[in-house]
Amino acid sequence: MSDTSSTNGRRIIVFDTTLRDGEQSPGATLTADEKLVVADALVELGVDVMEAGFPAASPGDFEAVRSIATRVKGCTVAGLARANKNDIERAAMAVKPAESPRIHTFIATSDIHLEYKLKKTRPEVLEIVTNMVGLAKSFTSDVEFSAEDATRSDWDYLVQVFSAAVAAGATTLNVPDTVGYTTPLEYAALIEYLNAHVVGSENVVFSVHCHDDLGLATANTLAAVAAGAGQVEVTMNAIGERAGNTSLEEVVMALDTRGQQFGGCHTGIVKNRLVPTSRLVSQLTGLVVAPNKAIIGANAFAHEAGIHQDGMLKNPDTYEIMKPTDVGWEGTRLVIGKHSGRAGFRNALEQTGIRLDDEQFAVAYQRFTELADRKKTVTAADLIALVEDQLEAEISTFHLVRWSASIGTGDQASASVVVRKGDQEVAGDGVGNGGIDALLEAIDSAIGIPCELEEYHVEAVTPGEDAQGLVRLRVRSGGNLYTGTGLATDVVEASARAYLAALSKVVNGQTTGEIPGPVSSVSRWS
Ligand SMILES: [Zn+2]
Repeated sequence: MSDTSSTNGRRIIVFDTTLRDGEQSPGATLTADEKLVVADALVELGVDVMEAGFPAASPGDFEAVRSIATRVKGCTVAGLARANKNDIERAAMAVKPAESPRIHTFIATSDIHLEYKLKKTRPEVLEIVTNMVGLAKSFTSDVEFSAEDATRSDWDYLVQVFSAAVAAGATTLNVPDTVGYTTPLEYAALIEYLNAHVVGSENVVFSVHCHDDLGLATANTLAAVAAGAGQVEVTMNAIGERAGNTSLEEVVMALDTRGQQFGGCHTGIVKNRLVPTSRLVSQLTGLVVAPNKAIIGANAFAHEAGIHQDGMLKNPDTYEIMKPTDVGWEGTRLVIGKHSGRAGFRNALEQTGIRLDDEQFAVAYQRFTELADRKKTVTAADLIALVEDQLEAEISTFHLVRWSASIGTGDQASASVVVRKGDQEVAGDGVGNGGIDALLEAIDSAIGIPCELEEYHVEAVTPGEDAQGLVRLRVRSGGNLYTGTGLATDVVEASARAYLAALSKVVNGQTTGEIPGPVSSVSRWS
């Protein structure tokens, strides 16, 4: 029920930072392969700029940005850099293979950051801006400059800083509300002020980047667009530092649904890719979307109250301002089964935006038919879980060959397991209180890597008693933390797969990179 003919107003640039700011959400670390999967989905979603990461942060980040820059077509790829020589050179090298590379450099401008974090004076920072934006410009014509903590900075100093950045070659000026402090009216006034006073503002794009510490990120972003901002920095599912970033889906659908309120401003986002992309990001980051989240929450288009159901049955516009299918909710549930065959399975994968090479497809199809034998209906969520588990298993060192467990009232449970490592098989036995505990003990005796179970979560991939169980766990070994996920219709088996995936990372040194807190090993089944 859009109130706009969407081509009248300005075309707003969508700068997605799910793979940079989004991935900075605690616990959301993505492997390089997972980042590529997300990058593909963002291209299909139609983002204009993709901030792929922070190349100077780590060799892994550098490689991830570079492989995304090499692969992505039809979208600008940006690398983030602090305003220093090393960061900018690393970013330049990482985005170099891109069809359209951008260097995004930043330095703080608020007095609180200058005094406590940078320990620099305003004139010193001004000089750094000129030199480092100039350096970035020597590598790419597309340079974005951000004044970190801009919304708590002095406005006239900001004018100086941005004018210097434009003079040094910046083409996009980003005005971050780094700590989620501003309000819609104040932010709009700041954008108007900068537009009016920055020297050369007519030749650059003003960009906005908001955090949700007061729950105002989307409102602030939209107010800034109405005030003249031409680029919005957003993340899928609003993930990001602390309380998160501005939500891509909310800004896109607010402009699409209430365009007249924003002078007909519109984006190039493919709306019906919103829900599939949201699901993918949630699945890969492990950050679950709240059911009441706007547009992409499971309940966003669910109507419980009888009166609502009555209205809906008479005319959906009574209680819906958008059509669920417009944003990618399946009108009908995606139902595939053992009679679907390869074609049906391939179609279902494409519908969920998953691409596999022939070898991967063959393995996935095998697992799908096994699942379809055990489960009445297989949903899109099942497919994503299945493929994610397969990708994890591909890089796994340990593979579950077979297992058994016997449990009974009062007795200690016992289990035995056979695990394959390369072409070698090892067996183990274990006892414990409960099948899972006994089986993990059996794996310990088979593999013998000392570790502590730090966290254990199990969730059903879909509703229903025949649901696949998805286990996520974290183990601590040698002072580091390692995560593992495992999938099976039997939660005991899913736990074993997750445990083996985590132990594989111990062997491959793939830590989560987090500093573990005090030892609080989960007594497996208190
Ligand atoms: Zn941010």
